Amino acid sequence: MPHPADARTDPANPSGPIGIMAAMPQELQALLDLMPDESRVQRGGREFWRGHLGGREVVAVLSGIGKVAAATTATLLADAFGVSQLWFTGVAGGLGADVRVGDVVVASALLQHDLDASPLFPRHEVPGLGVSRLHPPAALVTQVADAVAEALSPQALAPGGPLSHIHLDTLGLHAPRVHTGLIVSGDQFVNSAEDADTLRHHLPDVLAVEMEGAAVAQVCVAFGLPYAVVRTVSDRADASAHVDFERFVRSVASPYSLAIAMALLKALPRVAPDGAVAAPQAHS
Ligand code: SAH
Repeated sequence: MPHPADARTDPANPSGPIGIMAAMPQELQALLDLMPDESRVQRGGREFWRGHLGGREVVAVLSGIGKVAAATTATLLADAFGVSQLWFTGVAGGLGADVRVGDVVVASALLQHDLDASPLFPRHEVPGLGVSRLHPPAALVTQVADAVAEALSPQALAPGGPLSHIHLDTLGLHAPRVHTGLIVSGDQFVNSAEDADTLRHHLPDVLAVEMEGAAVAQVCVAFGLPYAVVRTVSDRADASAHVDFERFVRSVASPYSLAIAMALLKALPRVAPDGAVAAPQAHS
């Protein structure tokens, strides 16, 4: 059987496919529905879907919940599938004061809030890396934030727009805002005001909490891969989530992440077979 890294033969993308990790089955399905030619490769107990999305070669996969599951999936994407960059889309609990349910947070920094090897290392520091915060490439963060703003613009959500089927007011949601900043990850679903306060106390600039992003970031650092983490806020990490989680993922987070992924794919520079980088497609 050929090594899955043979996916690196697409002349349109000589450096390797784009890895897309989705946190929820509904999100993955929304991506697969738009991949005309996807083929399944099983590895490490996971199903990786190779194909094309928006004209780009991609490998899409369900992350698995929690840091170990996500790190395993990211490692396979990097090492077995030879991806050239890795995107993570999912939902998160909002912790920043103005981060509301239905907003989107793009990570410019990621940290494992439950990593504490003190007194050997300062709290939160990743042993061996000498830092606690990992930073995706600034240019990619900007590209992702721009793609989110475009995908979820008032026009996109208005009648006649591609996301007009999402009735935000029926769901009790505001128009989405895009935040860029610190996302923290840990092996804990944070759903008490006390735990949320503790995180804000230790990390006053935290915007959102989830269970995978910082682990994926650490794997990408190890492999020298650019990465992006983008999260739709599904709850406030306390007991007061006012939108049903499953319903939120199905009716809001999945269409959002699909629209964001498509906008980002469209914005990426195209690499010609000779390695020359073409400008992104004009918006149509
Ligand atoms: N109901 C889901 C479980 C979701 S677990 C199921 O049965 O599959 C929560 C997922 O959403 C994790 O992947 C995590 O990254 C993210 N998440 C959303 N809100 C969170 C919060 N308040 N704390 C931690 N993770 C959260």
